[in-house]
Amino acid sequence: MSTIPKTMRAIQVEKTGGPEVNVMREVPVPTPKDDELLIKVEWTGANYIDNYRRSGLYKLDLPFFQGQDIVGTIVQLPKAAHQATVLGELKLGQRVWTPAGASFAEYAVAPWWKAAPLPDNVDPKDGVSMCTVALTAMALVRYSYTVKKGDYILVRAAAGGVGLVLCQLGRYLGAHVIATTSSEAKAKLAKENGADTVLLTTASSEDNVKEILKFAEGKGVHAVFDGVGADTWEENFKVVRTNATIVTFGNASGAVPPFSPLKLAPKCLKVTRPTLFPFIATPEDFATLAKDMTDVVEKGGIKFAVHKVYPFTQEGVQQTQIDITGRGTTGKLLIHVS
Ligand code: NDP
Repeated sequence: MSTIPKTMRAIQVEKTGGPEVNVMREVPVPTPKDDELLIKVEWTGANYIDNYRRSGLYKLDLPFFQGQDIVGTIVQLPKAAHQATVLGELKLGQRVWTPAGASFAEYAVAPWWKAAPLPDNVDPKDGVSMCTVALTAMALVRYSYTVKKGDYILVRAAAGGVGLVLCQLGRYLGAHVIATTSSEAKAKLAKENGADTVLLTTASSEDNVKEILKFAEGKGVHAVFDGVGADTWEENFKVVRTNATIVTFGNASGAVPPFSPLKLAPKCLKVTRPTLFPFIATPEDFATLAKDMTDVVEKGGIKFAVHKVYPFTQEGVQQTQIDITGRGTTGKLLIHVS
């Protein structure tokens, strides 16, 4: 095991703004709290949330360290008692995956219970997708709207990181999946990943509403999974059936506007606005959701698509944010740290 250095390179945001506010700094290697592991980061990845944080849409105290997904090896175990979980035993040198944060760095800390051994048959690059996009998708189909066999569901931004996993989980759970995306190439990928029908957002909203209703027995879908936000908000109300659930989980096109509960009355609708973190806030909750998700991955029910591997440089990290907000990416944007 190599010795732990005193300092490391890490991406820090010191003021809010565009992708250029992600700056590489030489900073102290973090000191783990008693219940935390120290991890040497091998792989991390971009998430849309990186943009909300650095732009100030999600307000964080400045300066802060960027990044969320961590795949790497344990270089220091917690001082406090820790135990093997249903996810496996944590040992020095063990490769783990965790959504613990501050991951655009050579070293990162994570509470021991929020890190899981990477199964031997899972590629470390796929482990990056497990951290946020797959855990999120699993939480959405389990807790936000429990997808059942025979349900009709609509997945927005279907070729994106979360979108591709949602399509696959929809198929895995036996739902009929209709999806929207912005290009033919993305539509092809969404179909290959479980969408039965894919509509282009370049078509008119009226036409897409008709197609979605036709697909869903003329009644509309049981649930919409929407990470697009503002642009698709109103259309969602037209394509759902009575007693349906609108799961609005992101703001890629901007935040949805404030609305009155009366808007839900004509179709007795439910709207939920989930985020991953409360679903994995305790050791039990993290272990349950992570086990559910890794079981599906190990059974081959979820496969991960990689858009591109970016270098761990200031420019590399900035480029991930230019690319993901530029709407040209599919699947996961990886960053190779070491
Ligand atoms: P994606 O890979 O899905 O990238 C975002 C996609 O959004 C784009 O590819 C694009 O797909 C679509 N999009 C629609 N309108 C716009 C626009 N105006 N500008 C940019 N993109 C647009 O990102 P992620 O998989 O990382 O995240 C997907 C969504 O899920 C995001 O909103 C993210 O914030 C949210 N999320 C929420 C979590 C939570 O805990 N609530 C956790 C993880 C992600 P297309 O071209 O097909 O329209």
